[in-house]
Amino acid sequence: MPNRFSGERAVVIGAGMGGLPAAQALADYFREVVVLERDALPSDSTPRPGVPQGKHPHGLLAGGFKALCDLFPGFSSTLVQAGAHSVDSGLEVYLEYPGQDPFPARSLGVATFTMTRPLLELAVRRRVHERPNVVFRDGCRVVAIGATPDGNSVASVSYKTGGGKLEILPADLVVDASGRGKPTLDLLEATGRPMPEETVIGVDFGYSTAVYTIAPDATPDMKVMYTMPKAPEESRMGIVLLREDGKWFAALGGRGTDTPPADGDAFADYAASLPTATVYHAIKNATLHGHIEKFAFPESRRRHFDSSNDFPRGLIPIADSVCRFNPVYGQGMSAAAQEAVVLRNLLAAHAGDADPLATLSSEFLLAIESIVENPWTLAALPDLAYPDARGKRPADLEKSIEHHIAVTQAAHQDPDIHKLLIEVLNLLKPVSALKAPEVMRKVTSEEVKACVGPHGARRSEPSASGANPGYADAS
Ligand SMILES: Cc1cc2nc3c(=O)[nH]c(=O)nc-3n(C[C@H](O)[C@H](O)[C@H](O)COP(=O)(O)OP(=O)(O)OC[C@H]3O[C@@H](n4cnc5c(N)ncnc54)[C@H](O)[C@@H]3O)c2cc1C
Repeated sequence: MPNRFSGERAVVIGAGMGGLPAAQALADYFREVVVLERDALPSDSTPRPGVPQGKHPHGLLAGGFKALCDLFPGFSSTLVQAGAHSVDSGLEVYLEYPGQDPFPARSLGVATFTMTRPLLELAVRRRVHERPNVVFRDGCRVVAIGATPDGNSVASVSYKTGGGKLEILPADLVVDASGRGKPTLDLLEATGRPMPEETVIGVDFGYSTAVYTIAPDATPDMKVMYTMPKAPEESRMGIVLLREDGKWFAALGGRGTDTPPADGDAFADYAASLPTATVYHAIKNATLHGHIEKFAFPESRRRHFDSSNDFPRGLIPIADSVCRFNPVYGQGMSAAAQEAVVLRNLLAAHAGDADPLATLSSEFLLAIESIVENPWTLAALPDLAYPDARGKRPADLEKSIEHHIAVTQAAHQDPDIHKLLIEVLNLLKPVSALKAPEVMRKVTSEEVKACVGPHGARRSEPSASGANPGYADAS
C-alpha cells in the first residue's frame, strides 16, 4: 500500500470518461475522493444529458483499453460481464482507405472491446464505486474552484445541489474533468493568470448516428467498420459498430455544408454516396430503431497549460478539458485513460515526499503532452489536408501526409508494418515509430512504390486470407 496520504480530500469535477479513471488513480492517495457530477447518474447504461455524445458510437482504442486495465485490474472480465464484445483489431476491425485494397485479415495481437459509450461508462463507474473512499455526489453542478488567499493553490470547490443549495467543499487537489475546462479557466482568470495558449483546428464536422438491426450476412465477420473519406476531395465517411445489445450503430459524417441528414431514406442515400459501399451494404436492408441523432463538432482544441510556469498548486485539468480531438478518430476516451495512468504514476512517485503535491500539477501537465501529441498529430494530419480546415499548417504537412499514405500502402504487404500501423492508430505506440529507419526503408522501397498507381491507388490484389469481404458492391 502506498504511503497514504498525499492529501485529505481530492475532488473530481465530472463523472465522465476523464473523471472516473482519475478518481480511481486518486483513491490510493487521498483519504477521500469526491466526484461531483451535474447529471443524475443512472443505474443502467442509458445515455445522459451531460454527455450528449454518448448517443454516438464510441470506439475504445486498444491503447485506452490497456490503460483502463492498468487502472482497474481484471477490466476485461468487467467488460465481458457487462456484455461488451471483444475485438481483435487485425481480424474484426475493417478499415477502408479509399483508393486502396482492404487490409489483409491478420491477427496482430491488438485487442479491445466494442460496446456503447454509456455501457463503458457504467462499467467503469461500478468499478470506481467499489472504492470505499470514493464518494459520488450526482445532481451537483460545480460553479467554481476556490483558491487560497494568495491565489497559489486550490482550496475548495463550490457547487449547487439539485435543490439549488450552494455548498463549499474544501479540497487539497481538484481534477477538472468537466469536458469544457470552464472551472479551470475561471480559476486562472480569478487569480489573475493569463489564459492558456491554444491550438485550434476548425473542422466543422457533422455526425448523424442511427441504430439498426442488421442481418448477419450484411456484416461479414466484422465488429467495427470504418470507411475513411476520400480526402481532400471529399469528406464523407462512415462507421458501423456492434453494440452490446446485438444492434449496430451506423454513423455518417461530413464537413461544412456536406453534413449527413437525420432522415432515414436520406441517411441511406448519404451512405450510398460514400467512396465504398460497405456501410450502405450493411444498412440497406436493415431495420432502423428510433431517431437518427445528430452532433456538430466545430473544432479540435488543444490547450497548452504546460507552457505556464505559474499553474495553481493542486489543479489538474484532464481529458477534454485539456484537449478535444476530432471524434472521427475515436481517441478522446483512450487519451483520457492514459492521462489518468500518468496521474496515478506521479502520485506514486511523490507519495513519500514531504509535500507530494508541490510539483504535481506542472509535472502532470508536462507529462501528458506526449500522450496528447500522438492522437493530435494523427487527427491533425488528415484534418489539415482539407483546404477549408482552419488552423496553422506545419511546414512539413504535405510530406507527413505522403508518408502516412505510404505507410498504409506498405502495411498491406508487410505484416510488421501493418501491426505497427494498427498499434499507432490504437495509441499503443507513438506516431514517431512510423518514422523509424527500418519502417522508412520499407515504405520507400521500390517494391511498395511499384504497387502504387499514378494517383496513389494500389493495384488490386487479393487479400492474404480472403477473410476480408473486399469493398462491397453497391448493387
Ligand atoms: C460525437 C462524438 C463521438 C465521439 N466518439 C469517440 C470515440 O469513438 N472514441 C473515443 O475515445 N472518444 C470519442 N469521443 C470523445 C469522448 O466522448 C471524450 O473525449 C471523452 O468523453 C472525454 O472525457 P471527459 O471526462 O473530458 O468529458 P465527458 O466524458 O464528456 O464528461 C464530462 C462530465 O462532466 C460533467 N460536468 C460538466 N460540467 C460540470 C459541472 N460544472 N459540474 C459537475 N459536472 C460537470 C458532465 O455532465 C459529464 O458527465 C467522441 C466525442 C464526440 C463528440
